Parts: sequence; C-alpha cells; structure tokens
Amino acid sequence: MSAPRLEVELGAVAHNTRTLVDRLASRGVRVVGVTKAALGRPDVAAAMLAGGAVGLGDSRVENLARLRAADPGQVPPDVPLTLIRSPMPSQADDVVCLATTSLVTERRTLDALAAAAERRGVRHDVVLMVELGDLREGVPAEDLVDLARSVGRRPGVRLAGIGTNLACQSGVVPGPRAMGELSRLAEQVEAACRRPLTVVSGGNSASLGWVLGADDVGRVDELRLGESLLLGTDPLTRRPVEDLRTDAFVLVAEVIEVQVKPAQPWGRSPRRPTGTPRRGGGTARSARRSWPWGARTWTPTGSRRRRAPPCSAPAGTIWCSTSGTSPSRSGTSCGSGWGTARWCAPRRRRSSAGRPSPPVRPHERPVVGTRLDRVLTPT
Ligand SMILES: *Cc1c(COP(=O)(O)O)cnc(C)c1O
Repeated sequence: MSAPRLEVELGAVAHNTRTLVDRLASRGVRVVGVTKAALGRPDVAAAMLAGGAVGLGDSRVENLARLRAADPGQVPPDVPLTLIRSPMPSQADDVVCLATTSLVTERRTLDALAAAAERRGVRHDVVLMVELGDLREGVPAEDLVDLARSVGRRPGVRLAGIGTNLACQSGVVPGPRAMGELSRLAEQVEAACRRPLTVVSGGNSASLGWVLGADDVGRVDELRLGESLLLGTDPLTRRPVEDLRTDAFVLVAEVIEVQVKPAQPWGRSPRRPTGTPRRGGGTARSARRSWPWGARTWTPTGSRRRRAPPCSAPAGTIWCSTSGTSPSRSGTSCGSGWGTARWCAPRRRRSSAGRPSPPVRPHERPVVGTRLDRVLTPT
C-alpha cells in the first residue's frame, strides 16, 4: 500500500458519535456531524449518521455536493445538510439545491439565497449566526432581531433558528455568559417574529465541555461536531474526551531520512524554497515557524505561544511516527485541519522573549502530520 496514507477506522467515528449523541440527548441537544475535515467523504458521513447524528454539516459547497451525490445507502437523500458558513453570493444557486440549511450573517446573503430559492422553486432554511465574542462570524447581538424579522419578508427562505461559533478564531471559551446570551436572544427573536425557532445551535466541539457540565443548557438544542467525532478530542484542551476513541485516523508514513544534523543551515540561501524571504537565523525553530500550516501553537485562550516541540532527539532531526500519537496537540484551530511537521529543537531552548520553553511532557511524541484533506486526496 502506498504511503503516506491515512487509515480511517469508521467504527471509531460511529462509536464517538453514538457516545456523544447519547450523552447530549440527556441534555436535549442534537448532534450535526461536521464532515469538512474529511472533505465530505460519504463513508465518514455514514459513520456519523450510524452513530445518531441528525444531519451533516460542511463548510464547502463541493463537499456538500459530494455528500448529495453519495450512495443513498451511505447518505440518504432526506438527510438534512447544512452549509456551516455563509456562502459566497455566487454560490447561492448551488447552495439552495444541495443544502437544506445555511448559516448566515448578512442581509445580502439572505437576498441571494432567497432569490436563488425562488428561482429553483425550493424553500431554504437559514440559521442566523450571532457574534458572541470570538470575532469569527456573526451579526452583532443588537442587530439580530432586525435581521431575523427581515427573513420573514423574503419568500424562499425560512428562519430555522440562531447559532453561534466560539473558540474558533480567537479561542473564546464557550461559557455561561455567551451561552446564556444565546438563549436570551433566541427568546427575543421568537417574541419578535412570533414563531418558535427549531434550531439554537450552540457551537462546535469546543462547546461540549460547557453543554455536558452546565446545570441548565437553556435553549441550546444542537451542536455542530467535527473534531470530537473524528479525533475523539476536545479542541479546547486537545485532550481525549472521556470514552471516545482517538484512533479513528492513523497517518502511516515511511521514514525516508534519519540523520543527526546541526540545527543551523549553512551556505547561501537568501530565499526559502517556497519563495518567501528568509527571516531569522534559520534555526530549527524558525524552520518550524515557516511551515505553512500548524506553525502556530494555540493555547485554549487563543493566544499564540511559540514553544519548542516536545522532543528529546538531537536538534535538527525530523521524526516520523506511524501510529498511536495524538495528532492534534498543536495545529490549526477549529478542526479544519491539523498537524505539524515537527523539527526537533534542543530540549531547553529559550524563547525570543528569554523565557524558558515549557517542559517536555513525556507522553508527547513527535509526529509528522499533514492536513487531512491533503492526505485524503493525494496528488
Ligand atoms: C468546523 C466547524 C464546526 C465544527 O468544529 P469542530 O471543532 O471540528 O467540532 C462547527 N461550526 C462551524 C461553523 C465550523 O466551521
């Protein structure tokens, strides 16, 4: 079999979904399975549905098309599909044909979807996203009711509910303040529009901790879950969620070179191979920073820390591990991809601010990772 390859254990995805679906059901919360990290793969979607997800969500129209074109045995035609970000206006026609629901924040998007839905003779559901502090997306809370009222004036679209997205762009942790506000806004919108909302979408996998621990989840009745179903981890802590499997995706790679080398390159090199001008001294760490994805380590609060990768190997070594590692200890936020190639830096490097790097945790092992979508569609 070719390498690198990603081995996907669908049973683990189904198990993770079933476990969270059951746990959340006791709180009155449904699960929408988010497939974007698997590029809308029908078999991954089918595993989520088998585990009890009530619908599927994806952030790319192409992925929704893939789900809609899937074997009906895997993704039945009546499964609700949600576009979990605002479509570009030029995509409106495709969106109303492929998706049941869109998450929307702008009047112009509503106009485009409503016009497209009328042209296509369908009715499209919208969930209005409200900004509650993470600054990733959403209409300001004070404008929500007006926007909600305006949905009713547009034939072609129907107000299904409201939602929010936290711990994504800025790492703002979902807690009682934001979630309480979401519930209050749901009541206000219902009062203003004189109709019940069928969706109050409380966020992504980062909201799990709050939903499962809160005394009262208020009006929240849905979560959009990707990372927790796929990787079994909580994006806030990068730790496994209790009883979930973390072995659904195993990247298998072959080691092609293992050499002990100095951390500093030598010879003339004004530019990096990627064409960007070279900054800094070309240390192992700066090489790591220049990596186009996963080069930043996100703390639960969203601030960026630069830390030496956990490694006890000589500086300059590139490690590759083929299984059993937790791939998402550092990586991009929001479950859209993960992974870093880790160059080993000396154990006790000092950061540029002169602070010592955090201690190496013995359970962390280096892994060469790559974005799921690159692995799933090798070129
Ligand atoms: C990706 C995404 C999700 C799922 O996030 P996970 O952290 O993978 O659970 C939910 N909502 C939106 C809007 C997203 O973009």
